[in-house]
Amino acid sequence: MLSRRLALALPGLLLGACGGGAEPVAASNPSAGPLLALPPEAPAQGGLLLGRTRPGSRVTLDGRAVSVAPDGRFALGFSRDAAPAAELVVTTPGGQTERRSLAVARREWDVQRINGLPGAMVSPNAQQMARITRERERIAALRKVDSDLPHFAEGFDWPAHGRISGVYGSQRILNGEPRAPHLGLDIAAPTGTPCATMAPGRVLLAEDLYFTGNTVLVDHGHGVVSLYAHLSAMDVREGAMLARGQRLGAIGATGRVTGPHLHLGLHWFATALDPQPLLPPA
Ligand SMILES: [Zn+2]
Repeated sequence: MLSRRLALALPGLLLGACGGGAEPVAASNPSAGPLLALPPEAPAQGGLLLGRTRPGSRVTLDGRAVSVAPDGRFALGFSRDAAPAAELVVTTPGGQTERRSLAVARREWDVQRINGLPGAMVSPNAQQMARITRERERIAALRKVDSDLPHFAEGFDWPAHGRISGVYGSQRILNGEPRAPHLGLDIAAPTGTPCATMAPGRVLLAEDLYFTGNTVLVDHGHGVVSLYAHLSAMDVREGAMLARGQRLGAIGATGRVTGPHLHLGLHWFATALDPQPLLPPA
């Protein structure tokens, strides 16, 4: 796990020798690192990309401002259906600008077509709809949180071990009607199996929600937030700081599910990412 964490943290340092060749590098100047350092591999749909620039620089992705940590690190996220190219622009405090066109690797998603199902799924009543709307707005507001916690760049751990029963990006087409894609990773394990945070962070929400049951959101900084759904128990409160590996609850089957599992989500602001490529080999 340690090597994985280093692998995530190091590209910026390893790449330090490349790219900035034309610039004067003064050893006495701490902000004279490369203007922009990115991991060597291209980002993929559903991916989280960690980059580094000089402290105090401004970064935009497709025109949207991205917050930069005091040490120059920043996070970028790409949705399941992200376009094949994105434009990253970095501007240093001195006004030096670098534009980088990022190729975003396309991924194939598992699509299942299931026909001949009986119609009329039970739809929520008016009271339930009001609750769903309220919860959706609450989550949408939390998706805007842009804290300066540094843990987004420190690597991620498995929150629990179990059989992978659902992958990110998969989609079902029921009787010809496409359902919303599954934007998380399902880990099936018996009710009561401990569930830990993927990385240190602050609890943004710990509440029973209509669809996702007992749900915990953990902020790791810079818009990177993990989500743990369908828990049978929640051991943490909003505002609590969680250490690496700290238990936050137990796996369960609360909310709209058919069996006990953890639905693990990872977001970069409103963009749902695939947690799996960020986890160590199981
Ligand atoms: Zn799920």
